[in-house]
Amino acid sequence: PPLVALRGIGRRFPNETVALDGLDLDVRRGEFLSLIGPSGCGKSTVLRLLAGLDRPSAGTVAWDGARPEIGFVFQDATLMPWATAADNVFLPLRLRGIGRRDAAPRIGEALERVGLARFAGHRPAELSGGMRMRVSIARALVVRPRLLLMDEPFAALDEITRLKLNDDLAELVAALGTTVVFVTHSVTESVYLSDRLVVMAARPGRAVASLDVPAPPG
Ligand code: ADP
Ligand code: ADP
Repeated sequence: PPLVALRGIGRRFPNETVALDGLDLDVRRGEFLSLIGPSGCGKSTVLRLLAGLDRPSAGTVAWDGARPEIGFVFQDATLMPWATAADNVFLPLRLRGIGRRDAAPRIGEALERVGLARFAGHRPAELSGGMRMRVSIARALVVRPRLLLMDEPFAALDEITRLKLNDDLAELVAALGTTVVFVTHSVTESVYLSDRLVVMAARPGRAVASLDVPAPPG
């Protein structure tokens, strides 16, 4: 069975906006899934439903077993500007009641994975946009997620930084074996990164196509 099966999902907001209507979507274990579709079709809403940050107004979200540990990377790095990279990465552990001393090795490991071990003491303003996004990815990884949700993480970055982060993300995800649901506007990026693309129709959103991306030869 899939890691999670969304069936007949609807999401109507109190202002009567219908973001999703009749969305069926499986997230398969271990896949890198990209969600693409026009602005406003409900991609972020799908991520929030998966994360448990929002509830559907119709339909079911069925997990295969317990809901896994989830890491969320938001559009824009959304770091605390006053806090160092290490303190930003510490946040999800602190919220889980883990003390600084126990957290330290995990914070170091997460920053190491994104190539920023030497920047643990830097504040966001002292880092480049790409480095801030790496800190944000480390913050998502520090909980050792089995499901990583990413909402247009690289949209605000310049093309070169974006290509570099695409490469690094592909490597990171291959090493971790985490299931990923990745929202992007870029078809190029989704084809490069993903095992599968799901195309959503304009609002109210639903999945209209699922395309498997063949692995490159060799
Ligand atoms: P996408 O990520 O595909 O751009 P979203 O999931 O952010 O789309 O939004 C889907 C639709 O729902 C949009 O029309 C958006 O304006 C609307 N929407 C999102 N959140 C809310 C909310 N809290 N209240 C009302 N409308 C919302
Ligand atoms: P990124 O690709 O991570 O966004 P940038 O190309 O924006 O990085 O980097 C801006 C500056 O920061 C460059 O001088 C780059 O060499 C430096 N830099 C980025 N990542 C690292 C790192 N892991 N170690 C040392 N320097 C780095």
